[in-house]
Amino acid sequence: MTGNLPVVETFHSIQGEGAHVGRSAFFIRLAGCDVGCSWCDTKHSWNSRNHPQIAVEQLAVETATAAKNGAAFVVLTGGEPLQHNIAPLCEALHRATETNPDGPLPIHLETSGVNQLSGVPTWITLSPKRHAPPRTDLLAACHELKVVVHERGDLNFAESMAQAALAARKNDDASQSRLSNASKEPLLFLQPGWATTTGQQLAFEHVQSHPHWRLSMQTHKWLGIR
Ligand code: SF4
Repeated sequence: MTGNLPVVETFHSIQGEGAHVGRSAFFIRLAGCDVGCSWCDTKHSWNSRNHPQIAVEQLAVETATAAKNGAAFVVLTGGEPLQHNIAPLCEALHRATETNPDGPLPIHLETSGVNQLSGVPTWITLSPKRHAPPRTDLLAACHELKVVVHERGDLNFAESMAQAALAARKNDDASQSRLSNASKEPLLFLQPGWATTTGQQLAFEHVQSHPHWRLSMQTHKWLGIR
């Protein structure tokens, strides 16, 4: 299967946040997002018409080179990657890296969960938004739930999403079997919005008093790298 996707940028860096923080990663930032978060730090990605259409095979070649240069996984981010059918891209990435000594490069997906899942990513980071609740199948399939904290209401939302993820796993056997490596329950992260001292304090205090939550800081921004 072939095809083109609108791409904002590709780059080899480290994963700056969440469960895989600090690991070498190749990023493919797809353009297009209709979710409209007021605090979004990638608003330039929203309009896919402002970005070039790149062949999935070209993205796979770049990814294979990054894997040879040490990338431990490839991250599909955005924008909202699932505004597109990412199955052809996942297949091309798998084909291009399947002869690696360690096997095909793991594919990590970062999504808000408002669109239907496509492709078969190895790892799903679900970052749900209060004004745009995620789909149940993404809640059931995600490996990591990451909620951005600006104000106290975000903590209530985070707890409701954690409960919803557990309920979705119980109720949605189809999603469980669809991703064979779906975890029994997702890892839970609170991530303060960038440079909000209120968000930092709220997330810190909540993690301190709720042992099932972990703190995620955007280390790439603290380091001044992409
Ligand atoms: Fe920005 Fe992500 Fe929200 Fe889309 S879902 S507006 S890319 S923060």
